[in-house]
Amino acid sequence: MKYQTYTLHNFRQIPQVSLLSQEEIRDIEVVGRVLPFKTNNYVVDQLIDWDHFQKDPMYILTFPQRGMLSEKDYHAVDRLLDDPDQEEELKQVVHQIRMSLNPHPAGQREHNMPELDGEKLPGLQHKYHETAVFFPSQGQTCHAYCTFCFRWPQFTGINEYKFAMKEGEKLVRYIQEHPEISDLLITGGDPMTMKSSIFARYIDALIEAKIPHLKTIRIGSKSLAFWPYRFTTDSDSAEMLAVFQRIVDAGINLAYMAHFNHYAELETEEVRKAVSAIRKTGAIIRTQSPILKHINDRSEVWSRMWKLQTQMGMIPYYMFVARDTGARNFFAVPLVKAHRLFRAAFSKVSGIGRTVRGPSMSANPGKVNVLGTTYIKGERYLALRFIQGRNPDWVGRPFFAKYNEEALWLDDLEPAFGEEEFFYEEELNQILQQ
Ligand SMILES: *Cc1c(COP(=O)(O)O)cnc(C)c1O
Ligand code: SF4
Repeated sequence: MKYQTYTLHNFRQIPQVSLLSQEEIRDIEVVGRVLPFKTNNYVVDQLIDWDHFQKDPMYILTFPQRGMLSEKDYHAVDRLLDDPDQEEELKQVVHQIRMSLNPHPAGQREHNMPELDGEKLPGLQHKYHETAVFFPSQGQTCHAYCTFCFRWPQFTGINEYKFAMKEGEKLVRYIQEHPEISDLLITGGDPMTMKSSIFARYIDALIEAKIPHLKTIRIGSKSLAFWPYRFTTDSDSAEMLAVFQRIVDAGINLAYMAHFNHYAELETEEVRKAVSAIRKTGAIIRTQSPILKHINDRSEVWSRMWKLQTQMGMIPYYMFVARDTGARNFFAVPLVKAHRLFRAAFSKVSGIGRTVRGPSMSANPGKVNVLGTTYIKGERYLALRFIQGRNPDWVGRPFFAKYNEEALWLDDLEPAFGEEEFFYEEELNQILQQ
């Protein structure tokens, strides 16, 4: 399949765009000036239901939506957009809006940047003992951009490649020097946008190093959803599958962490072929997605998605909560509602699908799972626990917050029972000061 991408500059060439009103086209032009926009011919022709595009989750997933900007910001851009004399002013306004959209939530990367020989490694993140996260420079784009993307700043050029690296040898040495690392998570953008030959160089260096403590390589990718041809008909698809095979043959577990937001992404012929091709290499596919208003905020979407994934041989892994960045106001689902939807869907799948965990917030202290609402002596509370923690000792301990139906994130919650702070807060402050 020929790969055709569309961005702000050429989306009018998409034949189906003739179905849009002038206002809808304007919305794309205005919002697309602030937040990244990219889609492709597979998403457009095979995922979007153009008969009902305004409400179609796959349309909302890649085409900028008016509600993603506040009315004020929308008008500020709209006013300047057509006037060539205002180009400089427009750039400044766009920049200000971007900076107001919290481009660096939770200060994550600054706190978790590892060092090798006293030198910082910007393309690595090592927050949890057993897992290092690697951002290869050549994989910092995606086959299309999700409108809700929490990594949107890197696609707008605000911090292009700031957090990426090319040096495979440094990666190998860092892992060698850290025997606590059992997992390497390769992410992006989408590392499956890399040429197979480049991806192979990183992987072969790792395999040749025969690092005894490296047990699992994970690849975080949305290519199965946005461009399944990556594993079927692309000219270097067989080469990519051969790399997967080499990982498995080296005795390393290969976990392909597939990002799917909706069952519509699982229902094409091409994605079925791609899933089987990956599974034939011996890789396992685990699946994850944030919960998002306008895209998947109904329990039926999740139960149907998990059932289909299980049937196709994939393992449901995480339901995430959307982070506080970019167009979060448009997509946010409150924690209490997210848990209600999670439970409704979880209770409809068999035990084989109940491998999934969530809703989970990747917050500053760790990954926090909302366990649900509970009554204690007639009062309602939220029960939570860490799935991952900056301190591994926090993991698995239940803790409680005051019930709050509007809370969207851990920061919006208050400790229960009159406590001043959550049990981990003092230690967290100490860790962050180090
Ligand atoms: C989620 C995450 C991981 C992986 O955590 P698992 O619970 O093992 O899936 C590793 N590093 C960071 C920074 C993460 O956010
Ligand atoms: S695939 Fe992931 S990194 Fe790429 S745009 Fe979507 S959410 Fe962002």
